[in-house]
Amino acid sequence: MSKENRKCSFCGRDGKNVDMLISGVGAHICERCVEQANLIVSEERTVKAKNKIPSFKLFKPFEIKKHLDQYVIGQEDAKKVLSVAVYNHYKRINYSPPKNNDADDVEIEKSNIVMVGETGTGKTLLARTIAKMMQVPFCIADATVLTEAGYVGEDVESILARLLQVADYDVAAAERGIVFIDEVDKIARKSDNPSITRDVSGEGVQQALLKLLEGASVNVPPQGGRKHPEQKMIQVNTQNILFICGGAFDGIDKKIISRLQANAIGYGASKSGRIDRENILQYVAPQDLKSYGLIPELVGRLPVLTYLNPLDREALRQILTEPRNSLVKQYVRLFEMDNIKLEIEQDVYNYIVDKAIEFKLGARGLRSICELIMLDAMFDIPSSQKEETDTFILTLDYARNKLEKSRLDRLRVA
Ligand code: ADP
Repeated sequence: MSKENRKCSFCGRDGKNVDMLISGVGAHICERCVEQANLIVSEERTVKAKNKIPSFKLFKPFEIKKHLDQYVIGQEDAKKVLSVAVYNHYKRINYSPPKNNDADDVEIEKSNIVMVGETGTGKTLLARTIAKMMQVPFCIADATVLTEAGYVGEDVESILARLLQVADYDVAAAERGIVFIDEVDKIARKSDNPSITRDVSGEGVQQALLKLLEGASVNVPPQGGRKHPEQKMIQVNTQNILFICGGAFDGIDKKIISRLQANAIGYGASKSGRIDRENILQYVAPQDLKSYGLIPELVGRLPVLTYLNPLDREALRQILTEPRNSLVKQYVRLFEMDNIKLEIEQDVYNYIVDKAIEFKLGARGLRSICELIMLDAMFDIPSSQKEETDTFILTLDYARNKLEKSRLDRLRVA
């Protein structure tokens, strides 16, 4: 029977009036009814997911810190501050206030976090490690691509679309997730003086972010794509989403120093003590973020402020070998899979660290340098596979030779 002679068994439209008619056992369905049915199914799923209360283990601050210690080198202050903030955040979510108790109207506010520290010192790593430990959906958003609604670029809602995607569209799970907003310093107001011509790019995005941070119901386009009028939106409440912002805040040290000096001139100068000028970020305070160009409302919504130390030679050396999934441990495992026992001479570690410092590559550069050194070995060894275990000793001469032959200059940071 041709399409023209059949009908949609659901809406009754004639085959000749539809684009497509799919036939099953004793019934047909047109493309419109398929789409309609699909909508109903996904709506039902969303409602079911919303009603399902995900439960997760509440870790104590010292447990969170201990977990972070396995993956992140140093950064003791940041780890401690984060551990307490994350513990309080999830305690707040787990706690349901007793009903009919007027006296107990203490509402624990959300403690979004902002981390200030040079790039490549572990901000993203900290946020990611915590999300993994809590087993909650996690996504990273780059503040520099965000724009105010209506401008070319990504709306702030796109952040939630990504979180939903990571959560497999389980709205309830997404609503307890963690969002890391990177480069938040790049949306700072260019001038400290708000009365000077408004700086749309920065301040507008800050205003838009504010809504997410303070907790609101936001309509999110399901596939993260562009909004169009008939699109069914998914409502996401950001009340329990933990936002962790990070930024290098280049030049904020000057703001911190001038504030510290201004304080020292006032009364209490004798109590102010010595300032450790090597690591000014440790003194960072909310007012420094304001003078840097974050609007006061946004700073107010990021009540937990912490900093990261720059990584010194010793820290870089530790990063190579100590974290649970350190680069070296990863290479050892990769070689092991090919029946090769990888041994690395101690001098090689120092050499890699020296090069990372010389080329100003920081922790991120360690990987690129290792890749350059290991490339040939990783290319050759799998093809000469033997039955019994072999040993590959990575000597300083070998490392130096490989690195000098490679185009290391490409990695150099100006
Ligand atoms: P940031 O977000 O501060 O720019 P990342 O957290 O992305 O930096 O760090 C880049 C990479 O450098 C990480 O994936 C990790 O391998 C390494 N790294 C940086 N800091 C540390 C640290 N403190 N401990 C362990 N690894 C680190």
